[in-house]
Amino acid sequence: MILNNNILNIEDLVIRYVTEDGIVEAVNGVNIKIEKGKTLGLVGETGAGKTTTALSILKLIPDPPGEVVKGNILLDNIDIMKANESKMEKIRGEVVSMIFQDPMTALNPVITVGDQIAEAIFIHQKVTKKEANNKAKEMLEMVGIPGNRLNEYPHQFSGGMKQRVVIAIALSCSPKLLIADEPTTALDVTIQAQVLELMRELKKKFQMSMLMITHDLGVVVEVCDDVAIMYAGRIIEQGTLEDIFRSTKHPYTEGLFNSIPNIEDRKAKLKPIRGLMSDPYDLPKGCAFCDRCDYQMEICKTKKPEKVYFSDTHFVECHLYNENKDFKLNNGRK
Ligand code: SF4
Repeated sequence: MILNNNILNIEDLVIRYVTEDGIVEAVNGVNIKIEKGKTLGLVGETGAGKTTTALSILKLIPDPPGEVVKGNILLDNIDIMKANESKMEKIRGEVVSMIFQDPMTALNPVITVGDQIAEAIFIHQKVTKKEANNKAKEMLEMVGIPGNRLNEYPHQFSGGMKQRVVIAIALSCSPKLLIADEPTTALDVTIQAQVLELMRELKKKFQMSMLMITHDLGVVVEVCDDVAIMYAGRIIEQGTLEDIFRSTKHPYTEGLFNSIPNIEDRKAKLKPIRGLMSDPYDLPKGCAFCDRCDYQMEICKTKKPEKVYFSDTHFVECHLYNENKDFKLNNGRK
C-alpha cells in the first residue's frame, strides 16, 4: 500500500457477523479517506454499518461473531490489519480515540473523573502519577469544567458535563484522529450545540482529524468538511459538504434532506423515506435501496449500481446516472 498524506485510508473493507440466524453483511466494500486536519461525516440510519466501520479502525470488532473478511486500513500510515494487540493498545489513545453516544457507558461510576483522565495519561505517556494528575486537571479545565471538581464521581455531573469528561479522556493523549460516534445524540438540544462547539475548538487546538458518525445532517453542517452517506454497508454517495448539500445525487440522500423540517417553508410537508432498510441477512441482488426508492427502474432490481463520478470529490452509486450524468432529482417536498 502506498504511503500518503491522509490520516485514514480504508480500502475495500468487508465485515460480516456470523450468527445462528445467518450471516449479516455489515460492511460491503467500503472505501474511506480522511485528509489530515479534515472532518469526514459518516451519515446513515441505524444498522447502516457506520459503527462497525469505526470499530474496525480500532480493531475492536468482536470476533466472534464479527469477521473482517477483507480490506486494508492504513491509519497514520500504520497497517492496522497487521498490527498485533500490544501495538493496538498503544495506537488506541495515542493515534486514534473514540467517543461514544452515551457517556455513562464510557465512564466508570466508582472512579473519580480525575483518576479516569489521569489513568489514560499515565498509561500512554512517560509521566509520574503526580504529573498525570496535573495534566488531568488541565484537561478538565480545557473542556470547561472547573479543576476543583477533579475528585468528584460521574454521577455528580450532568449529561453534557459527562460527555465533556469523555472528550477530555479521549483527547488526553493528543490523538491524531478522533472518532465521534453520535456524540451529542443522548444530550439535550441546548447542550448538543455547546458540545459540538467544544469539539470544533479542540479539533483546531489539537490539529486533529475527525470521523463524525451521525444520522443528523445538522451536526454535519456544523463540523464536517466532507460527507459520506452510508446505506446497507456501502458508501452510496460521497462528496464535500458543498457537493452533498448543493448537488445531492442519490435518492436516499435526497430522502434524508426531505425528512428534516424547512424553516423557510413551514407549510411544506415532511416526506419521510418510506419503508425500512433491507434485511441485513438477505440483502437484495440489485440496489439495496430499491424497495424504498421513488426512482426505481428495472435494472435496479437485478444489478448493483457502480460508482459514477461527477468530480474528483463527488461520486454516487445509482443507476440513474449511468447514461445521463445531468439527471436531476426532484429535490424537494411536495
Ligand atoms: Fe433508486 Fe435505482 Fe438509484 Fe437504487 S440504483 S437509488 S433503486 S434509482
